[in-house]
Amino acid sequence: MTPAGKLYVVATPIGNLDDITQRALATLQQVNLIAAEDTRNALRLLNHFSIKQKCIAYHDHNENSQSSKLIELLKDGQNIALISDAGTPLINDPGYHLVKQCRAQNIQVVPIPGACAVITALCAAGVATDQFYFGGFVPPKQQARQALFKKLTEQTYTSVFYESTHRIIASLQDLQTSMGAEQTIVIGRELTKTFETFYAGTVADTLDWIQADHNQQKGEFVLIIEGAEKTQEIDQKSIDLLVKLKAYMPLKAAAGIVAETYGVNKKALYQAGIELD
Ligand code: SAM
Repeated sequence: MTPAGKLYVVATPIGNLDDITQRALATLQQVNLIAAEDTRNALRLLNHFSIKQKCIAYHDHNENSQSSKLIELLKDGQNIALISDAGTPLINDPGYHLVKQCRAQNIQVVPIPGACAVITALCAAGVATDQFYFGGFVPPKQQARQALFKKLTEQTYTSVFYESTHRIIASLQDLQTSMGAEQTIVIGRELTKTFETFYAGTVADTLDWIQADHNQQKGEFVLIIEGAEKTQEIDQKSIDLLVKLKAYMPLKAAAGIVAETYGVNKKALYQAGIELD
């Protein structure tokens, strides 16, 4: 029996073609077939790197039928590379059905990592990245958008979304409505491309900036929303000291001494002091 082939999930550049990896190029060269989101885009990429390969379309509208066909080819021993129009397949791109079926049928899936817009934006945004939530595309409908942003108000970790040129302003306006004008965000636009731009500021500032320059409204966007400040748990000994000191001095000064003594956040202590009254 012929051993089954492997499915290679190959990341391609999100703008700058120099971001392709050696491993991606070697894989695209060596497989028997490339399943591509858009075969014309794939051919442009392959031509650029002088790679001659057979391509088959694999997109949102034929994922189910093509998956079965590709599984049969893999079982016959064919090695297949999956690519999307840009970046990492399956990250808001087709591929989930195929990878899931491969896993169910014990066909080896090999990731070939590379560019991905969410990670590219996060690593240069200057926001906390120890924990983050990736929400894919911002919902296209205003009601869903506002509801989603409202839910993020309490979230203490960074949130990241994809957004298109058509809705960036509407999304920012809804963000302002739901989270307030002072919410801090970062916009990553046209990443790795000639007109790459990062803008960090409050939603209100960002709206002013983007509305003042039509060029900044064009292209592809990653929207990063900073998490709310973490409220610190205050232990009992800090509270006890705060209560004692508060009887002899203003709350602000008392909170300062406790913060220095026990290394607790002064703002959180001050807030706790107000709640004690
Ligand atoms: N699979 C891709 C990845 O790994 O990032 C994402 C595909 S998704 C269909 C396309 C969206 O990703 C765009 O609308 C945009 O929000 C974001 N995106 C892709 N490339 C980008 C770039 N160069 N700069 C900013 N955002 C980008």
